[in-house]
Amino acid sequence: MRPNEIPEIAHTELINEGYKAYENEEVVVYWNPKICEHAGLCVGNDPETFDVNRRPWIKLDNQTGENIGKVINLCPSGALKYRLKEGK
Ligand code: SF4
Repeated sequence: MRPNEIPEIAHTELINEGYKAYENEEVVVYWNPKICEHAGLCVGNDPETFDVNRRPWIKLDNQTGENIGKVINLCPSGALKYRLKEGK
């Protein structure tokens, strides 16, 4: 498991902590605005997926779970986390 990858069992815990969930058929992404340090590594490395000028600011339409995970593992604060869906 990589730095910001989480097991399925953590879903409810993360939601209770204030994380919001976003998903596509390959991956579930979690983001917590209270933890985000606005370091911009997500936006800088994948501006199509992470765009602060758009609502929702995280849009997973055009990205694979594997690539999303690579970018999320760069997040220094832990504000972004993810879980690859089974078989992906
Ligand atoms: S990389 Fe993490 S801490 Fe930085 S802006 Fe994105 S979510 Fe926030």
